Amino acid sequence: MFRKIRGFRDIYGEEIGYWRKIEEVIYSLSESFGYSEYKMPVLEKAEVFDRGIGSTTDIVEKEMFAFEDRNGDLLALRPEGTAGVVRGVVENKLYAGSGVKKYYYYGPMFRRERPQKGRYRQFYQYGVEAFGSASPIVDAEVIQLLCTFFDKCGIGEFLRLEINSIGCPECRPGYKNKLIEYFSKYENELCEDCKRRLSTNPLRILDCKVPGCKKVASDAPVMIDYLCSECRKHFDSVKYYLEISGINYDVNPFMVRGLDYYVRTAFEMITDKFEANSTVGAGGRYDGLVKQLGGPDYPGIGFAVGIDRLVNLIKEAGLTYEETLDIFLVMFPETVDAGLKLLKSLRDENWGVDMDFELGSMKSQMKKANRSQASYVVIVGEEELGKNAVTLKNMTDGEQQLVLLDELKNILSQKL
Ligand code: ATP
Ligand code: MG
Repeated sequence: MFRKIRGFRDIYGEEIGYWRKIEEVIYSLSESFGYSEYKMPVLEKAEVFDRGIGSTTDIVEKEMFAFEDRNGDLLALRPEGTAGVVRGVVENKLYAGSGVKKYYYYGPMFRRERPQKGRYRQFYQYGVEAFGSASPIVDAEVIQLLCTFFDKCGIGEFLRLEINSIGCPECRPGYKNKLIEYFSKYENELCEDCKRRLSTNPLRILDCKVPGCKKVASDAPVMIDYLCSECRKHFDSVKYYLEISGINYDVNPFMVRGLDYYVRTAFEMITDKFEANSTVGAGGRYDGLVKQLGGPDYPGIGFAVGIDRLVNLIKEAGLTYEETLDIFLVMFPETVDAGLKLLKSLRDENWGVDMDFELGSMKSQMKKANRSQASYVVIVGEEELGKNAVTLKNMTDGEQQLVLLDELKNILSQKL
């Protein structure tokens, strides 16, 4: 017997109802905000991620599924979506012309981290990227899309939005020096990772989860006190546009995206409901990234949501999204011809219809119908067929009526 690889999983059965509902929201909502889908490869040259995410990040340093191809190329399974989309924007010259380019993606990502609840080696992300505008209105729109997404999934009330500004190449270096100066005084109290970050990526120390580091970081200088006037103005505008859109937020000056090409706005959607401070979605502005991957100066901003964690959250919140069948069609050996024709014509109307392939007794088929949780049962019996009719049973109230075949679709379309 074969077993799946550690950290990977099968998703099926009841669980699929949640995924389907979320996927519907992803496609319809993104398109209503004017985003179009971007399908990028699952496999890229590893360098795309080294450059696109940063070689000093946990993702690239320790979590990437990277391997040498037969021809010697170093390849990697995508650990996130942004780097691939940006590679595509550069390669396909999508930066040409004016106007904003807005894309969304949905699909599996791969990170070789220690598996645990809510942390898998293959997980799914929904993300958006908006290119071509540095306006704070875009920041507010992207954040609004993120909040609306969770509302439509039914769990907006369990989440809160945190925002921050992490400055720009003008104001961040000065701040970074202040930060190094501060943390150097407490070097002995930092974890091993943070000791290393002190020289590679000191901003990352600010959001380290290790209690000792957290304690030291709580008194560290914060970026929003050192923003240049342009960054200050941008941050104030983002907050203003969020307010006029009716979006609540908290400013968290300790939130970072620890890479040089991330600028200004950073944001996260956090839940305290079931597990303190767990992030289900995060994003930020990355105006330097297109250039970093070989393109021109071309601003961008985006977010990514972890769908596996979102499904867990929705389940824990007690919401049910099971896929239900519309109609269970009961037919018997004597009526199977008419039954199968009706099955096809009902499915042509896009209703969910199923049947019992064993053509069992009435009693056993009704049992199966019950188990299928269908909203309606349509019985194609010999006697009914003689009258050009079928029996329609409402499974919610048990009510049963004889319906002419010619009228069945009309009646069902009023009910379904
Ligand atoms: P964490 O701090 O939990 O490791 P992260 O900072 O690595 O998260 P991002 O790279 O910002 O996460 O990815 C965005 C979202 O993708 C996360 O908020 C989370 O919901 C989800 N995610 C990240 N890694 C995993 C994983 N291994 N399994 C499931 N979901 C994940
Ligand atoms: Mg991680």
